[in-house]
Amino acid sequence: MSSSLSHRRVEVAMGDEKYGPKVGRQWSVSKPVEYVLREQRLVFVLVGMAMTSLFFVFLQPVSRGPDRSVPDSTSVGVGGYGGGAFGTEKALEKAPYWQQQSAIVNLGGKIPLGLQRKALRIVVTGGAGFVGSHLVDRLIERGDSVIVVDNFFTGRKENVMHHFGNPRFELIRHDVVEPLLLEVDQIYHLACPASPVHYKFNPIKTIKTNVVGTLNMLGLAKRIGARFLLTSTSEVYGDPLEHPQKETYWGNVNPIGVRSCYDEGKRTAETLAMDYHRGAGVQVRIARIFNTYGPRMCIDDGRVVSNFVAQALRKEPMTVYGDGKQTRSFQYVSDLVEGLMRLMEGEHVGPFNLGNPGEFTMLELAEVVKQVIDPSATIEYKENTSDDPHKRKPDISKAKELLGWEPKVALRKGLPLMVEDFRKRIFGDHKEKGTVNSVNM
Ligand code: NAD
Ligand code: UDP
Repeated sequence: MSSSLSHRRVEVAMGDEKYGPKVGRQWSVSKPVEYVLREQRLVFVLVGMAMTSLFFVFLQPVSRGPDRSVPDSTSVGVGGYGGGAFGTEKALEKAPYWQQQSAIVNLGGKIPLGLQRKALRIVVTGGAGFVGSHLVDRLIERGDSVIVVDNFFTGRKENVMHHFGNPRFELIRHDVVEPLLLEVDQIYHLACPASPVHYKFNPIKTIKTNVVGTLNMLGLAKRIGARFLLTSTSEVYGDPLEHPQKETYWGNVNPIGVRSCYDEGKRTAETLAMDYHRGAGVQVRIARIFNTYGPRMCIDDGRVVSNFVAQALRKEPMTVYGDGKQTRSFQYVSDLVEGLMRLMEGEHVGPFNLGNPGEFTMLELAEVVKQVIDPSATIEYKENTSDDPHKRKPDISKAKELLGWEPKVALRKGLPLMVEDFRKRIFGDHKEKGTVNSVNM
């Protein structure tokens, strides 16, 4: 025992000598200088420094992050970037920063090839739904990373499964009425059933989703400094007494009716968004969406466009509620997605009406569906639901002026695209292909 201890002491002593400070060596200034000058080391250091400086000089214009300093509520000026062309530097300054980035990449060839704008990380709540899934497609296409948060109440994995396996796409099954912590730059908050049949199915859940869900997502935005976009609705105008509806109109909403869970829920969500903006400095954006249609709508969600299209395809009568003289304005989904992205990237809080101002009675809509799908389709009248708004049509001058946005797809152009999708999903293949009538605008 004693011999092993003494042996270890010897080892330690030897180790100390090997790795300890070298005693007796003199330090002088000339030694490091000589070292640097030897074997052209100085030349390599200087070349390295020059290359690094050049790299940062070129990188600077494209590595700018989003300009968070713009005071949303006080910002002025017209976008001037509609159509994606940047005529002047002034117009470029006013464009959303992601458009600035792509424009900068194209300016003067100063930027090294391959450098892009900074990709963002974005949450889309309700991203497996109809509108959300189209938005996700555009964001992924733009080069961003997207996290979809959805409880699949009305959404479907099929709507986003073409992104499975893409490292820039994530899907989380989560109900927004429960808190969630994620690190992202932007939050598009869409989670909420949109069809009257779906939102009336469990009205308490609908109002909880709109109030508690929105509160949770605003809390997240505040905590992580993310920009937040709320998808509100034209329903905030209720059964409007002003026509067409401007954003300044406060609405005519029944607070205790069967639609109130949705209408009042969205009105409260707008209130929450504005209070987080004014009170907590959260950068919010509010879109008031008017009736939207397109591929991936739930086939049996009870909305008028999906009902008429599915009924005409199945050779069933189209169900017109009431006298069919009530009006709506129908927007194709790609127009809406463009509007949402411009709103998110722009400088203005809103609210903004996003809808197609073309106004149709339900009987006129049935006529268009007949022309597009089947001229022999018939109509069946049914009792209308309570509190059904008599008319609806957006005034979109604010979005035109401040976002440089207006819809491009007319009903007669958009409907055949939706019909194609419904046909595949209803019949499982391309059966009856060719019965879609091509209708001139
Ligand atoms: P949708 O029903 O197809 O999509 C809503 C999505 O939200 C679905 O994927 C659903 O599963 C999900 N969702 C619902 N409750 C949730 C919850 N508690 N937690 C997590 N996910 C939840 O509807 P949509 O037409 O795509 O509408 C999207 C948004 O746009 C909604 O907020 C809606 O109010 C708004 N909006 C739509 C229209 C329209 O015509 N489509 C009009 C006005 C407003
Ligand atoms: N509607 C109809 N037939 C249907 C479904 C709806 O006539 O099969 C009418 C409904 O009464 C309303 C309009 O179409 O006046 C739009 O209804 P939808 O549910 O699509 O959306 P809303 O604008 O009411 O949210």
